[in-house]
Amino acid sequence: MSLPADFLFSQSALQDYVDCPRRFELRYLRELEWPALETRQAREQEEQARQGRDFHHLLHQQAMGVPVEALEATIDDETTLRWWRSCLGWQEHHLPATRHAELVLSTPLAGRRLMARYDLVARMEDGGLLIVDWKTGRMPRAALLAGRMQTIVYPYVLASAGGWLSAGRLDNTKTISPEMIRPDEMIRPEMIRMIYWFAEEGRTIEFGYDEERRRQAEERLATIIGEIGARSEFAPTTDERACRFCRYRSFCERGVEAGDLSELNEAKADESITLDLDELEEIAF
Ligand code: SF4
Repeated sequence: MSLPADFLFSQSALQDYVDCPRRFELRYLRELEWPALETRQAREQEEQARQGRDFHHLLHQQAMGVPVEALEATIDDETTLRWWRSCLGWQEHHLPATRHAELVLSTPLAGRRLMARYDLVARMEDGGLLIVDWKTGRMPRAALLAGRMQTIVYPYVLASAGGWLSAGRLDNTKTISPEMIRPDEMIRPEMIRMIYWFAEEGRTIEFGYDEERRRQAEERLATIIGEIGARSEFAPTTDERACRFCRYRSFCERGVEAGDLSELNEAKADESITLDLDELEEIAF
């Protein structure tokens, strides 16, 4: 199956392709819903998923200006409340007032379009931009995170399409029409930083950015996008470790029963396994 001409690339689509071309095809080209349970402890998984969704929703509402007291009154479980209070404390000391939540940007690349959906982009006082991504899954090692498509795609798209944010022409809004964006507004890559904030640990992993990283990202992303566009067949990965928590494992006959949650948590800390952390976030929440 070939790629549609208007296909919109995202970090998760690219990560799926890198981990397993078949998974990319099943999820993004065939849009195959597969109902298999991801873990044996479905009830625990569902509860964690709810907490993760609630937490992200709270932060989105906060960024939209809803008073924190009103939001806190809606929290009905201890874990989410602990994450929330920890996050508020971190924000107070690390984030400026100008914040763009749930921002979506896109840029052309290799004849296609690449998009990024940010939890938050903050404009610092010096005009620099800070990408913040909230994580409720277990904290991985920085080296693993550095190689993830999210860490490569997010600063790249911001450097290409987010210069108007640095110029400070708009405040806390995500309602952006194309005429608001001037192509001459560029941001130097050195003015971009990216932070993952981990709710369970209350700690961060931070990445800087520069022109060399931007250039390398562009080269790699263009190569992958070009490769995908040229394919009509998408082979399953030969590394079956990637199948352990994949939703399509029964479809691909890579095992009917999924791994359990404790195994998943161990796997997330294992840098030798190329797992889709976003997929895992969905599972582990
Ligand atoms: S089960 Fe394995 S081969 Fe099939 S899509 Fe998932 S990762 Fe790829």
